[in-house]
Amino acid sequence: MSADCLFCKFVAREIEPQVVAESETAFAFRDINPQAPTHVLVIPKRHVANAAELAQHPADAAGVLALAAQVAEAEGLDTGYRLVTNTGADAGQTVFHCHIHLLGGRGLAWPPG
Ligand code: 5GP
Ligand code: ZN
Repeated sequence: MSADCLFCKFVAREIEPQVVAESETAFAFRDINPQAPTHVLVIPKRHVANAAELAQHPADAAGVLALAAQVAEAEGLDTGYRLVTNTGADAGQTVFHCHIHLLGGRGLAWPPG
């Protein structure tokens, strides 16, 4: 856990987000500023800054993707959904605990902005 990290505080339940699902390695909660009818953030419980760091921990990376798939099914996103992870300033990363945005429930344009 990183002391100053908001998402670590969510995992520790020091602050309670709107929890959607949890596994041994991963945690899912609703984004506070949703960009689609379903907008869930799926994160590793381990504090890593981004997807590149997450790749150093394959079991955690697999756990995040598995939980994302579980949430997508539970949300009924049968016709499609998108997983996005932003890395660095140019991509708009604002929280430096790795998170995957799970977006669905509406048509999603491509390419993203
Ligand atoms: P990023 O811009 O780093 O890719 O995504 C960060 C996401 O975290 C944003 O979509 C933002 O709305 C979300 N977020 C920021 N603060 C909070 C919070 O306190 N609670 C929740 N649930 N989401 C947050
Ligand atoms: Zn963290």
